[in-house]
Amino acid sequence: MKRYAFVTGADRGLGLALVKELLQHEYCVIAGRFMADNRQLTDLAEVWQDRLSLVELDVSSDQSVADAAAQIARITDTLELVINNAGILGDIGATILDPLSMADMQQVYNVNALGPLRVTNAVAPLVLRSESKLFVQISSEAGSIADCERNSWFGYCMSKAAVNMQGALIHNEVKKSGGKVLLLHPGWVQSYMSGSLNTEATLTADESAAHLVERIQEAIPAAPGERPNYLDYAGNELPW
Ligand code: NDP
Repeated sequence: MKRYAFVTGADRGLGLALVKELLQHEYCVIAGRFMADNRQLTDLAEVWQDRLSLVELDVSSDQSVADAAAQIARITDTLELVINNAGILGDIGATILDPLSMADMQQVYNVNALGPLRVTNAVAPLVLRSESKLFVQISSEAGSIADCERNSWFGYCMSKAAVNMQGALIHNEVKKSGGKVLLLHPGWVQSYMSGSLNTEATLTADESAAHLVERIQEAIPAAPGERPNYLDYAGNELPW
């Protein structure tokens, strides 16, 4: 039987690596494509024609998410898991003593916090119809309030804290029907968040994705807990 997984922000970075890793784990993958001109995901879809489908997706747009959900519903009526991966960094330099750009923060919040909520809202019935019933949010250690040592990164950190709260709210509903939410910090990953490939980060996107799919495989057979698990890529619990 075909097992479908849906990944947002799949053009490059961690999202693309997650798509490749899930294909290796026999999933049929539906990948959200944000950048029409990026060849990597398009080329991968040509190689994996039988198991990789692309949908155009801008998680910051209600209409785009609705269109993508309609396209997914034409492909499958069950999703084993959704991975809300799409994210942006925004301006990170300013402290409370500098001029802060509210417009930038609204954009970061719209993509990073409302994006996963829009997507989850649109596909939740398909996920709850599956066996795994797993909602995965790519959060960050930057969303931990208990561990916060930064004095800047306002938009990014606040958006990821919102993702964690959102995960708790979703979990409280979906656990009634056996569903669960997993909040994952992928580590410091070589990706394009800062505009170009960050080769200084400690993990390649492929390494991080392999760890994250291990965490997902562990979460699938587990019963829903009281709260979502908030874990780093290695499986260590993070403080909320
Ligand atoms: P990348 O920038 O490499 O990948 C993010 C992807 O999301 C890009 O393809 C990006 O497109 C896409 N995207 C941006 N905006 C939207 C949108 N509105 N709708 C759909 N897709 C969009 O970064 P990462 O791979 O590092 O990021 C993946 C996730 O991992 C994010 O949620 C991030 O917050 C999280 N994370 C990353 C860490 C790291 O060290 N890299 C650490 C902790 C968490 P485009 O490139 O055109 O913007």
